[in-house]
Amino acid sequence: MVTKAYGAQAADKRLEPMDVVRREPGPRDVQIDILYCGVCHSDLHQVRSEWAGTLYPCVPGHEIVGHVSAVGRAVTAFKAGDTVGVGCMVDSCQHCASCAEGLEQYCETGNTLTYNSPSPDAPGHTLGGYSQRIVVDEKFVLRITHSEAQLAAAAPLLCAGITTWSPLRHWEAGPGKKVGIVGIGGLGHMGVKLARAMGAHVVAFTTSESKRRDALDLGANDVIVSRNANEMAEHAASFDFILDTVGASHDLDPYLDLLKRDGTLCLVGAPEHPHPSPGVFGLIMGRKAIAGSTIGGIAETQEMLDFCAQHGIVADVEMIPIQKIEEAYERMQRSDVRYRFVIDSATLAA
Ligand code: NAP
Ligand code: ZN
Repeated sequence: MVTKAYGAQAADKRLEPMDVVRREPGPRDVQIDILYCGVCHSDLHQVRSEWAGTLYPCVPGHEIVGHVSAVGRAVTAFKAGDTVGVGCMVDSCQHCASCAEGLEQYCETGNTLTYNSPSPDAPGHTLGGYSQRIVVDEKFVLRITHSEAQLAAAAPLLCAGITTWSPLRHWEAGPGKKVGIVGIGGLGHMGVKLARAMGAHVVAFTTSESKRRDALDLGANDVIVSRNANEMAEHAASFDFILDTVGASHDLDPYLDLLKRDGTLCLVGAPEHPHPSPGVFGLIMGRKAIAGSTIGGIAETQEMLDFCAQHGIVADVEMIPIQKIEEAYERMQRSDVRYRFVIDSATLAA
C-alpha cells in the first residue's frame, strides 16, 4: 500500500514529501503504524551520502515506535494494537555464527538495514521510519512496555540506546568501573544514563561548556570539558573504559592517555573522514586497546528496552514536525540538540 514519507532524491537535495509503497504483510510480517521516529546522526550521514553507497530515493529513520495495525497469519508474538519498535535492522541471514549467537548486527552474509539496504520491495532498497507505516518480519520487531506517555522518548532507545548499551555490557560497565562517555549528543546522553544505571562511575566528556550542568543531570558523576587540557590531565590513567560517540574525526590520543593499563577506548561514532592515526606509544605503554562496536542484536535490544522500562529510562527529546527535518539536521551539525529530535509521525499527514 502507498504510505506518505519524507526522503531525499539525491545527496545535495533537501528532504521532501514522497509517497512510498509498503508490501502487503506476508505470513511472518508485522505491519506497524508509526507514531514516532527518532533522528539519528547516521540519518544525516547517509541521506547526504557522507558514507559511500547511499541509494536514492533515501528515506531515513531507524528509531521507530508505533502500533501494530495488521499481522501475517503465521505471526504469534504480536497482534493488532500492540506497541512495538523497530531499530536499525529488519532482516539477517538467520543461520551464520553471528546470527546463531543473537548478534545479527554482525551477520556474516550482511543484514538488511532498516533503510538503504537492497530489498525485493520497491524501489529495490529498504526505506526507513520517516514514514507513516512500515512492514517488518516479526523477528526484528521489539516489544515496548514503556507507558503511552513515554513512547516518543522511548523511540531513541532503538538506536542510541542499544548502540551504547551493547558495548557497555560487552566491556562490563558496572560497579567499581570508571567509564567515560565522549560526546553528549543522542548516543552520548543515553550512554551516560545507561552506564550510570548499570552502576558504573560515569564521566561525561563534552566540547560544549554549556552542557556541563546537563551532563550531571543526565547522571554523570563528573564532567570534563575536553578542550581544557588541565581538566583532562586530572584524570590521567584512571579509566577502565571510554565510549566515543563523536560523529566527527578527532584526535584519539588524549583519551588513550586517560585509560588505565588494559583499558579500552571503544568507537561507535562513525565520522565521514577517518580519525588521525593514534600514536603507537599511547597503546603499547599500558597494553591499551582501541575497539569498535555497532548497534546491537535483537535479543539484547529487547533486554535493553525491558531494563529501561523497569528503570524509567527514556531519552531527553525535542519533538519536531517532519516539515522541520532540515532545520533539525542543521542544529544536529552544530551539536545543538538536547538530546534527540523525535519526529511526530502524525505530521506526515499534513
Ligand atoms: P549527535 O547527536 O550529533 O551527537 C554527537 C556529539 O558529538 C555532539 O553532540 C557533540 O557533543 C560531539 N561532537 C560533535 N562534533 C564534534 C567534534 N568535531 N569534536 C568533538 N566532539 C564533537 O550524533 P549521534 O546521533 O549521537 O551519533 C553520533 C555518531 O555515532 C554519528 O557518527 C553516528 O553516525 C554514529 N552512530 C553509530 C552507530 C553504530 O552502530 N556504531 C549507531 C548510531 C550512530 P558535545 O557537544 O558534548 O561535544
Ligand atoms: Zn542510529
